[in-house]
Amino acid sequence: MTDLTSLTLAEARKGLADKTFTSLELTDAHLSAIEAARVLNAFVMETPEQARDMAKAVDEKIAKGDAGPLAGIPLGIKDLFATKGVRTTACSKILGNFVPTYESTITSQLWRDGAVMLGKLNNDEFAMGSANETSCFGPVGNPWRREGSNTTLVPGGSSGGSASAVAALLCMGATATDTGGSIRQPAAFTATVGIKPTYGRCSRWGIVAFASSLDQAGPIARSVRDAAMLLRSMAGHDPKDTTSVDIAVPDYEAAIGKSVKGMKIGIPKEYRLDGMPAEIEKLWSEGAAWLKAAGAELVEVSLPHTKYALPAYYIVAPAEASSNLARYDGVRYGLREQAKNITELYENTRAEGFGAEVRRRVMIGTYVLSAGYYDAYYLRAQKVRTLIKKDFEDCFAKGVDAILTPATPSAAFGIGEKGGADPVEMYLNDIFTVTVNMAGLPGIAVPAGKDAQGLPLGLQLIGRPFEEETLFSLGEVIEQAAGRFTPARWW
Ligand code: GLN
Repeated sequence: MTDLTSLTLAEARKGLADKTFTSLELTDAHLSAIEAARVLNAFVMETPEQARDMAKAVDEKIAKGDAGPLAGIPLGIKDLFATKGVRTTACSKILGNFVPTYESTITSQLWRDGAVMLGKLNNDEFAMGSANETSCFGPVGNPWRREGSNTTLVPGGSSGGSASAVAALLCMGATATDTGGSIRQPAAFTATVGIKPTYGRCSRWGIVAFASSLDQAGPIARSVRDAAMLLRSMAGHDPKDTTSVDIAVPDYEAAIGKSVKGMKIGIPKEYRLDGMPAEIEKLWSEGAAWLKAAGAELVEVSLPHTKYALPAYYIVAPAEASSNLARYDGVRYGLREQAKNITELYENTRAEGFGAEVRRRVMIGTYVLSAGYYDAYYLRAQKVRTLIKKDFEDCFAKGVDAILTPATPSAAFGIGEKGGADPVEMYLNDIFTVTVNMAGLPGIAVPAGKDAQGLPLGLQLIGRPFEEETLFSLGEVIEQAAGRFTPARWW
């Protein structure tokens, strides 16, 4: 039998349906792979017993012929998703050993459709970061290394565990979340596919909140088709999330292989940054050429407010975070420090429980929302956000179907290499991705090539609201042209 961990989700679905192997065999193969890859630190909690129980139960269903669309598929779950009876920490000390008594809507939909949970995946603390270095469980290793080097690189963040595990063949797909790029940037750093759906496409219920008006969940997978399969199960209206939208979930997989002939693809001139590495430029032109060869029409477009997106994001996101994180007070969840009175309890618990980056965000957020500065910062950032959204609307109004950009300004970097002295250096990673969250649009990152050191690079496609299907069709064209990339195993 071929190595079961190297199958794509679509191939595994066929093998399970044809009874070539069982879900228990598939699950066991992944559990062994996880055990052998602990050095990557991708999983913060392995749930082998639960995984085997779920696999056995689904095998019975498959035998009876009543299996769901993801029957028997082993997945990893970002530790931001509440999982009933299984520790959920957002990779923060402040949540301690919090064990939810409820299941997030997204994960319950995955289990409804037959998926199997292998465990919980590492992420940046409260999803704040671009390198998975702020996790209280320590950094995650990227399965990719520079050619001829033993340096461990970051897998990106905040969904670093998800991306690393999918790329290292530890799970067939993973859940992830994206507030400013946390699905797409790690996907680009690990040669995996990640899609951030339109805001409102997936329920946020049961996901630890970072910045509620920007947060959106989506899958990280090994192929565009796999991502489409996962999103179909994850998406949908949920009365428990008032921002989730009540429109039918299409069969995303049907978009794979659909012609992109005549589609108008915008190339935004503002994304051509000064000092952008030549390799990124080259990747971008190659991507454009592939889409053109498939029959798409390329047009230059302008998104004039792009340069304000990052500063505005780093006001809006911390503002919402400071409000969302107020609930961690030492009373309701997890950690509770010793104190003489209630004020001291809050202070001691929050000082001890939050890491440096989270504390920085809470302070920035509180500052920009404070009475004297609200108009100057928060209100202004909200106005900028409206302008960013309008840039995209103007573009789509001219008939543009999707926008092609690089996913990240560089390939993966080494652990500890960035942001030590200046956090802005780290924030710059999100330069191509935050605009999409600010505008609430869908965006997909697809592996498209490698840099001179052999590291993967991704391209991003941005779509109209609720037109994820267009992104899957176009993404697959890039995937077909670029080929798929797997890291050489060193762990
Ligand atoms: N890197 C960005 C930040 O730190 C985005 C994180 C995310 O999308 N969760 O805020």
